Amino acid sequence: MITVDEALHIVLDIVEPLGDESVALAEAHHRLLAEAILADMDLPPFDRARMDGYAVRSGDTAGVPARLKVIGEIAAGASHDGEIGAGEAIKIFTGAPVPRGADAVQKVEVSEPDGEFVILQEAVKPGQFITPRASEIRAGEKVVERGRAIGAAELAALASFGCERVRVGRRPRVAVISTGSELVEVARRPVGAQIRNSNSYTIAAYAERAGAVVENLGIVEDSMAATRAALLRAAESSDVVITSGGVSMGDYDLVKAALKELGAEIYFDKVSIRPGKPTVFARRGGTYFFGLPGNPVSTSVTFNVFARPALRRLQGDAEPHLPTVGAVLAHSVKDASSRRSYLPARLSIREGRAEVESLKWGGSSDLVAFMNANALIIVGEAVHALAEGSAVEALVLGTDLL
Ligand code: AMP
Ligand code: MG
Repeated sequence: MITVDEALHIVLDIVEPLGDESVALAEAHHRLLAEAILADMDLPPFDRARMDGYAVRSGDTAGVPARLKVIGEIAAGASHDGEIGAGEAIKIFTGAPVPRGADAVQKVEVSEPDGEFVILQEAVKPGQFITPRASEIRAGEKVVERGRAIGAAELAALASFGCERVRVGRRPRVAVISTGSELVEVARRPVGAQIRNSNSYTIAAYAERAGAVVENLGIVEDSMAATRAALLRAAESSDVVITSGGVSMGDYDLVKAALKELGAEIYFDKVSIRPGKPTVFARRGGTYFFGLPGNPVSTSVTFNVFARPALRRLQGDAEPHLPTVGAVLAHSVKDASSRRSYLPARLSIREGRAEVESLKWGGSSDLVAFMNANALIIVGEAVHALAEGSAVEALVLGTDLL
């Protein structure tokens, strides 16, 4: 059986970025940049006033109070053609270009109007309250790296440098299938040994959050013909097929056998992870397959550990893994498993430090307990107990940390 790291290595080795497309800036949020962005101009494009006040020659303020003649006014968006001379000042507003001849701005708070003049109570140093041209970035310099996720701050940079359209990684089309003859759709009330299909919704939500375009193909009964037909149909219109259930060792666990019949190459079908040992990863032509175990917590863990990095890699993410964080363990935990465990946990910031608490859960079917998890405590293969207060590592599932 391979380790989690070996499995991840295989996934990231096999999965290639899908290529890119051009989108309008307004559509670019959450996408991954497929090109580096260079500044098309200096920023600021001119020496810019940082305060409302007066543009002056600093030397003129050496002896305060200094009485200077106000020869004009420059609001944001305006500029002044002339140059200021000795003993002169120009009224200026935040964001406006500093006129030629001036080398500093004095703020309005320490000034007093006096007819055509202004009296400055405090001297200014050269450069004071001016943001010099190109001090933030120079034309031609790189502003954003390729492979970076476009968030709110990146949008500001892209807008400032005129990126009306940007090249971003293509979003993978993901088909989701839930296998299991015991499953019924949400609108139905389960009878006897039936249960409602919940995994399709969870996988779709995680996949969408990872940037995929998701098609939910519903439930497939545990028969070879139905499983094979569903996988084949899913493969036709998607880059990634994610199934849940049907990957353990039972007689009705048909996903792997169906993939083999379809000629898919199976890269692994068991990983030393808990929960989620029977996870399958395969490829057929340009379609990747993740066969995740059916128990809802196992499905969520294996999606986030294995499938999520693949979906991000397909979009060209330079850092496809979910982040991990070092945290202090709130209560001791025992973990008899000799596999690497990912324990559902609640991560919070307490008195300025990350603290993580293992949640009480009734095993890998306990989707109700899992709702409170925003992280997974990673417990190494050889570690079987961790004392309260130990330093642990946790995979961050959500960012609702407070
Ligand atoms: P399996 O991996 O097919 O052996 O499924 C393991 C357990 O997970 C089954 O006993 C089901 O109760 C449960 N399960 C499988 N698929 C789903 C699903 N789509 N939604 C909720 N629970 C499921
Ligand atoms: Mg099943």
